[in-house]
Amino acid sequence: MASFANRPLGDTPDGKTPDPIEIPWIDIHQHTQSLTWNDREKFDLSGARAAVMIAAGYYWAPYRPVSADDVRFLWDDALRRAACFDHRHFYDQYVAVGVHTWAGVEGAEDLLAALPEYCADERVVAIGETGIESTHHTVGWGLDEQRDVVREQMHVAYETGLPILIHTPGSSKGGLSARYSHSYEEANESFTDPLLDPETAKRDAVEIDLELVDEAGLPDEQVVIDHASPQIVPLVLETTDCYLSFSVSAPWLRGFDPADVASAIEEYGSDRIVLDTDLIGAMEHDAFAMKRTIMDLCRLGVDREDIRTVVYENPSKLLDID
Ligand SMILES: [Zn+2]
Repeated sequence: MASFANRPLGDTPDGKTPDPIEIPWIDIHQHTQSLTWNDREKFDLSGARAAVMIAAGYYWAPYRPVSADDVRFLWDDALRRAACFDHRHFYDQYVAVGVHTWAGVEGAEDLLAALPEYCADERVVAIGETGIESTHHTVGWGLDEQRDVVREQMHVAYETGLPILIHTPGSSKGGLSARYSHSYEEANESFTDPLLDPETAKRDAVEIDLELVDEAGLPDEQVVIDHASPQIVPLVLETTDCYLSFSVSAPWLRGFDPADVASAIEEYGSDRIVLDTDLIGAMEHDAFAMKRTIMDLCRLGVDREDIRTVVYENPSKLLDID
């Protein structure tokens, strides 16, 4: 593990000039609708083959209680926008549909009832993001209510065969503190009191999510535990068959760096590790984040086949797209 942590990123392990990088990538999690034309052009320029837009992932903007109609509008809006994007860009734009737990949603049961119908759309390749959250924007959501909403989406995943993207809370451990970040979040402090101990919230939430996976009878292979940090790597990769995804556009928020990704690949292999960006316009962001991370992993000496596996082969298999 230490071999990656101490290696300077500016040099390849053998000090030789590396071959050009021509590794394609698929981003399973981004908030594409909040980005710009220029960002999407950078995906084309840096090897993107496909990207998944989270249709209703982030109820940050309205500053008011979120209703089922609001979320339904966001789902429809994402599908409309995706159709525009892929006529004008060179990667394929897909959509994930779900009920996020960032804020309490009034009438969420109406959304859950409509979800299977949306899953039938050929552009919808995943459910999510969703998953137990500790703090909430605008209106809180109790753990029991969140359990019901997340479990029901896992049932829909079971019925439809689609993968489900499980959001996990921000990490308070490791990395640069979120208070140095440039975003519209207030030092990553949400507006409601945390339901889980902030020191262990990510791990605690994953443990609940995994209970729900069992309750729903959902095969682990359909589950992506997202926003990975070193805190949950052994839990997910040693005790489950779920995928584990590192969100590379905000490592300071998630508490990891490329050396942690390299270490996870070295220790557990690349078969169940994924990289996504979670790019979102409400934070300082880098549309080249995926490509830069690919380069960092090359500089760290990670085998190129393993890199290709985590940024392209695994996402392709998971989403069932070419
Ligand atoms: Zn997200």
